[in-house]
Amino acid sequence: MSATPFAEPRHFGLSKSKLTTFEQCPRRLWQQVHAPERAQVNEAQKTRMAIGHAVGDIACALHPDGVMVEADEGLGAAVATTRRLIAQGHPGPIFEATFEHDGVLVRTDILSRDGNDGWQMAEVKSSGGMKEYYLGDLATQVWVLDKAGIKLTGAAIRHLNTSFVLEREGDFEGLFADTDCLDLIAESVKGREQVVTQARTMLAGDEPGIAPGAQCDKPFTCEFKNWCHLDLPPGPEWPVELLPRNGGVKWRERGFDNLLDLDSGALSPLHARVLEATRSGVPFHDVDGARAIMSQWGWPRAWLDFETINPAIPRWVGTSPFAQTPFQFSLHLEQRDGAITHHEFLDTSGDDPRRACAEALVTMIPEGATVVAYYASFEQRVLRELAQMFPDLALRLNAMANGVQDLLPVARACWYHRDQRGSWSIKDVLPTIVPLDYGALQVQNGGMAQDAWVEATASRIDPQRKWVLEEGLRAYCRQDTWAMVLVARHLAGETVP
Ligand code: SF4
Repeated sequence: MSATPFAEPRHFGLSKSKLTTFEQCPRRLWQQVHAPERAQVNEAQKTRMAIGHAVGDIACALHPDGVMVEADEGLGAAVATTRRLIAQGHPGPIFEATFEHDGVLVRTDILSRDGNDGWQMAEVKSSGGMKEYYLGDLATQVWVLDKAGIKLTGAAIRHLNTSFVLEREGDFEGLFADTDCLDLIAESVKGREQVVTQARTMLAGDEPGIAPGAQCDKPFTCEFKNWCHLDLPPGPEWPVELLPRNGGVKWRERGFDNLLDLDSGALSPLHARVLEATRSGVPFHDVDGARAIMSQWGWPRAWLDFETINPAIPRWVGTSPFAQTPFQFSLHLEQRDGAITHHEFLDTSGDDPRRACAEALVTMIPEGATVVAYYASFEQRVLRELAQMFPDLALRLNAMANGVQDLLPVARACWYHRDQRGSWSIKDVLPTIVPLDYGALQVQNGGMAQDAWVEATASRIDPQRKWVLEEGLRAYCRQDTWAMVLVARHLAGETVP
């Protein structure tokens, strides 16, 4: 699509987010302005925005003397309101203070007086620390505020303080920490004018011919990715990127795009196995190696998988931002003679699930059993955190954590089917062994499990809907541990049902 010719580039109104978009990829900004219908906003982007709003609300609520600049009557009115509040000497922080310079409009999350005649601004973020990609946004704000005559003595990224522990329900004093970046962005502020000119010139022209690349996923996946990738010529069926652990990068840099063009003698043993299994179509399978490793594991075996939630805003007393909180586990308990029983725990009450989860673990997993997980460091961490929290159960929980065995490295060392396409995720390995996949399930991955749990714990949920969500969660988690049993049996050369 070609752009309408614009006689005057300066007519393009810009904002801090538009300039940040331009700096990620000019073509992205061009499409946002001229072809927004091409965008595909995914669920992760919507969730991120919802979390951002919730965190922003708390940041404002911590300043009861603050005043919000509404934009219901347009941004011009918001600029006028901001100007009036400042002129009248409003003592409290101003939320969404709105300024304009040279057609660039910014709304500053929190603008506070510094106690003298200056101001300090804070950009609220729902992350646990400062990120490099926040700085462009901040620089645009500082530039506009400076041009609007605001004397800034501080410009901070106000992020979540990961050391914060919620001690009383609803008391979020101390939830945030500031990283002041005013000095850090000084050079970037000086360059804003040039960025604005470049963005306007670009917007006045045809769509930039920028090819998709690393910028499409940094810092987040671009909403035009599907559209832009339509332009790309079809690649090889087995690209070099299938080599695990970013093994394809150096080959791509050397001009290779097809995995089948590589020489296995030039590859690491793992990469050579991937190449040979791909080239021949015959899976790599080291039965003796798998048996040797797993024969060291004790009985009974407790095949265990947790589902957790890690809310940015602490939900229960005693938790911190992003604390991994288990709300569900599935357990297949396998005896030496092959007998298997299934056990599970799921708490959708919305109350803190950790005590009930810890008690269920010590009740359902017999003393001395060997816990086996897939990517076991995660289960190990959850067990240790529960042990730390509940000293009366710590002996049993720590014993489980200390003895955890991991099926993932066994699978990686002893099995590869080319349909895994370079991944040893249990969801990619399972369908190469048995005709079972996750596509038929209501809940198909950890992110969907978290979303289902959040919905199921909502206070006004319809009971029928809650039951459906619970069944979906149970089926998903049960499949994860049953998949481990099947994969382990297959690795050891046993017949899998
Ligand atoms: S998909 Fe990539 S190339 Fe296309 S607009 Fe987005 S960042 Fe730019």
